Amino acid sequence: MTTTTECIFCTMARDPMHVAPVYRDDRVFAVKDINPKAPVHMLIIPNMHIASLAYVGPGQVPIMGHMFVVAEEIARREGVALSGYRLVLNQGEDSGQEILHPHMHLLGGKQLGAMG
Ligand code: 5GP
Ligand code: ZN
Repeated sequence: MTTTTECIFCTMARDPMHVAPVYRDDRVFAVKDINPKAPVHMLIIPNMHIASLAYVGPGQVPIMGHMFVVAEEIARREGVALSGYRLVLNQGEDSGQEILHPHMHLLGGKQLGAMG
């Protein structure tokens, strides 16, 4: 299920001039995180607002898979594909998710340490 709910990532998706995307295609775009937690911290964001992963069904699976392909492409461009990187997708309150529009964090450029 998708909705027309407005959010900051919907605004960015609709108005490319609003941000300077490091990557954009017809399904997703990527920007630098405004509050980076690592030397490389990108957000890979689908244009489509999906209010929760609970609403990811067969129709949304291709775009979710595409996010992984784009993540590897951005990692290559940012020079962290070989050194390694971490992908994080927060879902729900306990994860600390701030923006209710699915997005993948790509973190790299340093030893990230254990998940904790
Ligand atoms: P979440 O906690 O929802 O998984 O992650 C939201 C991320 O979006 C945070 O890391 C936060 O720094 C980032 N963020 C919030 N607002 C903006 C914004 O206006 N521009 C960019 N580039 N990143 C943002
Ligand atoms: Zn949205």
